[in-house]
Amino acid sequence: MPTFQTVRGMRDLLPEDAAALNCVIAKARETAGLYGYREIVTPVVEPYELLAAKSGEEIRQRMFTFKDLGDRTVALRPEFTASIARLATTALRNEPKPLRVFSVGSVYRYDEPQRGRYREFWQSDFEIIGSNKPEADAEIILLTNSLMQAVGLRNYAFKLGHIGVLRGILSQEDVDDKTQNAVLQRMDKKEYTEAFALVPEKCRATLEGLLKLKSGSVFETAERIIQYVADYSEAAASAENLLAILKLVTEGGCEIATVEPAFARGLEYYTGMIFEVYIPELDIALGGGGRYDRLIEVFGGEATPATGVAHGLDRIALAMQTQNLALKTKQDKRVVVVPVKDEQKGAALKIAQQLRATGMSVEFEVMGRKMAKALEDADKRQMDYAVIVGEKELQQNTVVLRNLAKRTQTTVVINKLAEAIRS
Ligand code: AMP
Repeated sequence: MPTFQTVRGMRDLLPEDAAALNCVIAKARETAGLYGYREIVTPVVEPYELLAAKSGEEIRQRMFTFKDLGDRTVALRPEFTASIARLATTALRNEPKPLRVFSVGSVYRYDEPQRGRYREFWQSDFEIIGSNKPEADAEIILLTNSLMQAVGLRNYAFKLGHIGVLRGILSQEDVDDKTQNAVLQRMDKKEYTEAFALVPEKCRATLEGLLKLKSGSVFETAERIIQYVADYSEAAASAENLLAILKLVTEGGCEIATVEPAFARGLEYYTGMIFEVYIPELDIALGGGGRYDRLIEVFGGEATPATGVAHGLDRIALAMQTQNLALKTKQDKRVVVVPVKDEQKGAALKIAQQLRATGMSVEFEVMGRKMAKALEDADKRQMDYAVIVGEKELQQNTVVLRNLAKRTQTTVVINKLAEAIRS
């Protein structure tokens, strides 16, 4: 028989990695609770059309797409926003606004595998639907800041931009939507020469000028953008919006490291502010998001403004590892229960169940090993206690409790056992 390997880009998460990921998931869920986002669970498999509608060429080409047995073209979700926008036009259509929803789970993209880039990875996704106000955008950035703090990351930095500024210029220069998407996609990859080659001369000069506006101070950069696009009405309104968000986020206690006038993101549905968060040790984003005011309309709903973020949970776990941040999981005592002879198996199982009912982690000796072997094994695996269930002790409602580290043992009454282990 050949030995099997995982499919390229897919990973097994062994106990330590799974624990690290689960720790980040728990923090994301806590953050959702703190900000009033209710969790929803959506399918991993969605109609291809839904996922392709407005995600952008980049992601469309990297989706895991296939026909199911009913001849439907479906795909594995590459992100959550499309599924949530679908719900906003169906089951959640009549919910009072703003609607705050949270999702966490695996997503799939046919990316080139490398450190921090996988084909199956985990995201936590926060969306706030129904508000077009800068305070909604600020909230999305602030909750991302809270998550970064909750996992203990240091020196993380936010980068902020506004798609409305770019689209405002492109629209006023009569660049059609399709070309706009192509331009923004290239700008996202910092391929400025290729991007600007797609637009007329005057527009090119304006976009090139944008690149030079960045200054050391984020507020100064925002002000410079406002002045620079004064003749482009939509872009100017977007630049004012960018400044308003920047002010709110800063007053909310989160520092924005850079305002990038020419910052673009791969997803096509963004219409307003966009942002990403980084740590200096990794040159890949830990999370990113932005405003998408037209997506819900595209899915047949009423025009509904919305803004949101997706955090790359594998990357956050990787970032924590890079900064040597230990997981703080409270570890209860680890206990093994061993019957001395076959006749005590039932009684020993009952004792194991009683201990578990108190919330204790208990393993039962299921290999049928003799006492010495079972204790040797427990020692090797650094268990804390062995509960030895023998005939003589059982007759007095007691068991032998062995402290494996100290190599001491005492006889304990069964209904005082949990207490004795914890004390
Ligand atoms: P996006 O939906 O593209 O905005 O991505 C949101 C976040 O997901 C990014 O900031 C990354 O942290 C994470 N992410 C994106 N692609 C990958 C990938 N291939 N592997 C791991 N994490 C990813």
